[in-house]
Amino acid sequence: DVAHGGVKTVRIGSMLGDGIGHEIVPATMRVVEAAMEVEKDLRVDWVVLPLGRDAIESEGSPAPDSTIAELKSLDTWILGPHDSASYPEPFRSQLTPGGVVRKTFGLFANIRPAATHPGVRAVSPSMDLVVVRENTEGFYADRNMFLGSGEFMPTPDVALAVGVFTRAACERIAREAFTQARSRRKHVTIVHKTNVLSMTTGLFRDACRTVAEEFPDVTVDEQHIDALTALLVRRGEDFDVIVAENMFGDILSDLAGELSGSLGMAPSLNCSETKAMAQAAHGSAPDIAGKNRANPTALFLSAAMMLDWLGDHDGDTRLSRAARRIRHAVDGALESRVATADLGGRASTSEFAETVLARTLRV
Ligand code: ATP
Ligand code: MG
Repeated sequence: DVAHGGVKTVRIGSMLGDGIGHEIVPATMRVVEAAMEVEKDLRVDWVVLPLGRDAIESEGSPAPDSTIAELKSLDTWILGPHDSASYPEPFRSQLTPGGVVRKTFGLFANIRPAATHPGVRAVSPSMDLVVVRENTEGFYADRNMFLGSGEFMPTPDVALAVGVFTRAACERIAREAFTQARSRRKHVTIVHKTNVLSMTTGLFRDACRTVAEEFPDVTVDEQHIDALTALLVRRGEDFDVIVAENMFGDILSDLAGELSGSLGMAPSLNCSETKAMAQAAHGSAPDIAGKNRANPTALFLSAAMMLDWLGDHDGDTRLSRAARRIRHAVDGALESRVATADLGGRASTSEFAETVLARTLRV
């Protein structure tokens, strides 16, 4: 950020992505800008960068070096969803554009809250939990640093996959989870499957236990992944912070997101100690792209998480207030039954965004 006199300008990178990204990212930029400008002397300077299909057309690559270089100089980023499975070869087989950003900047933590909202029907009506997902290794072996590809086919009829667990990465994600728990209900659930995968998920569990000793004020329990999915359905309101390796965390956060409302509402933040990137948990939804029907809530709430993260790191409470303003505006809109089609409502993306925008300015 840059200080001119008393005015603080936050430089935010914005990548529109593919599909509904072209609708939900611009809507999010308007809401973020409004929430910040209501605060005294807080401004935003947007830097829109090509990444994904637009970058293939303009730069010849879905994750161009020029975009990556530019990201380095910015305070934080908003990432639209990508539909990389639809790219032409050779791009389709490469690491996804979001994956390149996560890897380049070491965004090791994926924070995925699942909380209910007023006016939105939910299977678990009082769920309020956070899945802290390890984002660099584990059972998504394509992302590990030891093997180019984590999957192999020694013969056409045999396929192998390798999971990677390092003590350093497990302790790092555990520390993030226990830190989050301190500002919540002070409980962490460690996920593993040590009865079958004793070395890999055993190392994950043991690393979490070691870190737990640094947080005597936080209570801990441990669950097998399969038992936990049942418990989430049965009594999801009892969970606070769940720390999980990459694949378990991915699956659990989709489950929790849907139990607490809808995937179209599920936000996420990718972060390291020094960088944060807002990204909705859902994909590019090609089936409704360009139809002004997408629910922008997940990305609005992801952007609020990003502002909170920045506020914590800069010690600037104006940013946390801007984040709170966005959350209140979203809840107010939903409570007044303005909702997009995925929630059974009749509002278009732009109508819902206008409602949230007006409320952001009013709070
Ligand atoms: P990815 O591989 O990128 O995770 P996916 O195959 O999981 O993508 P999504 O793009 O998340 O798929 O879409 C799954 C379904 O949810 C689609 O029917 C889509 O229209 C719907 N959907 C996803 N996001 C939204 C949203 N923000 N608003 C409304 N509907 C959505
Ligand atoms: Mg998906």
